[in-house]
Amino acid sequence: IPVDSFDLVIFGGTGDLARRKILPGLFRRFRSGQMPAEARIIGAARSEMDDAGYRQMIRDAIAEFGSDEKNDAAGIDEFIERLHYVAIDATGEGGWHQLRDLMREGVIRAFYFSVAPSLFGALAERLHQHGIADDTSRIVVEKPFGRDLDTAKALNATLAEHFDESQIYRIDHYLGKETVQNLMAVRFGNVLFEPLWNSHYIDHIQITVAETVGVTGRGSYYDKSGAMRDMVQNHLMQLLCLIAMEPPSVYDADTVRDEKLKVIRALQPVEPHQIVRGQYEASQDGPSYREDAENPRSFTESFLALKCHIANWRWAKVPFYIRTGKRMKARSSEIAVVFKDLGHTIFEGDTARHRNILSIRLQPNEGMDLQVTIKEPGPGGMRLVDVPLDMSFADALGPDQDAPDAYERLIMDVIRGNQTLFMRGDEVEAAWAWTDPIIKGWEARNDVPKLYDAGTAGPEDAMMLMHRDGRRWREIK
Ligand code: NAD
Repeated sequence: IPVDSFDLVIFGGTGDLARRKILPGLFRRFRSGQMPAEARIIGAARSEMDDAGYRQMIRDAIAEFGSDEKNDAAGIDEFIERLHYVAIDATGEGGWHQLRDLMREGVIRAFYFSVAPSLFGALAERLHQHGIADDTSRIVVEKPFGRDLDTAKALNATLAEHFDESQIYRIDHYLGKETVQNLMAVRFGNVLFEPLWNSHYIDHIQITVAETVGVTGRGSYYDKSGAMRDMVQNHLMQLLCLIAMEPPSVYDADTVRDEKLKVIRALQPVEPHQIVRGQYEASQDGPSYREDAENPRSFTESFLALKCHIANWRWAKVPFYIRTGKRMKARSSEIAVVFKDLGHTIFEGDTARHRNILSIRLQPNEGMDLQVTIKEPGPGGMRLVDVPLDMSFADALGPDQDAPDAYERLIMDVIRGNQTLFMRGDEVEAAWAWTDPIIKGWEARNDVPKLYDAGTAGPEDAMMLMHRDGRRWREIK
């Protein structure tokens, strides 16, 4: 079903994010018929360029970054016709009249701020000053949303001068993933899970986001941030909220976000012995973190593991273990809900520990599986074995060539005016309020990250974080 017609202005329309994700994504929505034929996309950036130059740039970007099976060239000419370009410096005065003249009346106006956050204020101000944005317009902003509580508050305040919260869409593309939404469907759409979703039946929860790439090419940016700011404060925290929140009474933006906020506020402070920071060493596949970061004395973490607790009735004493890192063994993101052992076994000779584990895979191969215990087939008597009850959606529902990826889905949600999968300002601030003291703590201790070999699961101490509790991390594969 097509969304309503729109004019979408992409500030930073010539940048990496626009070329790699936003425009190839919009092209797929165009091809699927979801983007109405008369909708328009206006690239705005500093470089001098005309419409023809921009169209060629985006044609090349789609050829380079669009995925093959979803994205042959059919329809590209029509799509390209929907593109326009205006040269604008966010902090200057040129180009704004031209942009105003381009915008149509009576269609949704959305402005994607795909530029450094330091430019958000200038953009918001000029959009209003030139009468381009009004109180029905929407703005989309990217991470990083601040680097601590103070900067996040300042950024929220800057945006709030010109836009109401209901107009601001803070993107966390993890929330746009099919499986993340499926997590809510599975949890709240089945009788099987929610009654068990608490400290009586769940032993612990693990969240892993492992990447194989290092920070080559973006080392100087990353070195000022590190895994906590770059991944934990936003993506992992959002996943934790969806797993841990109370059932919202309805599925709408503010009700869901109210419940997520309560989770963040209930997170207990993390003690130093509950955190392991790591940094990758050089290997035959590539240089060390310090070489990548071009900072021989860097103490920034490219890996972080921590254990935390949520202080409420549902999760009393249930540990949440989260870890994320670069240059790890495999590119793999997973949430695992590990249920408790059975209190008693009726099967003689069965000494193994059998556990139900619900695993939610975000990448690769989005899907879920539930580890269940069954009888080992054959004549060997009543021997038990654990097997996965695979819930891969592609098998059950057939592959969906037109399934939108995270960015496409979220941009369409902006046009539909649905904020459910976007972070609210108070959520972001609460997440920083939890993160800040942890970072300040290790800065005050002059904590030195533990070195780990590239291609592994991180430093040995991260293993110990769980072993100490008699638990173990799931294999990264
Ligand atoms: P980039 O450096 O590749 O592109 C920046 C864009 O901003 C260019 O189009 C440039 O012309 C424009 N620009 C710079 N200064 C300007 C000014 N004064 N006025 C108008 N336009 C100006 O950056 P990027 O990687 O595309 O990232 C854009 C934003 O998105 C950043 O805030 C980044 O942190 C965030 N982000 C990027 C990615 C990614 O994968 N690239 C992922 C998440 C978030």
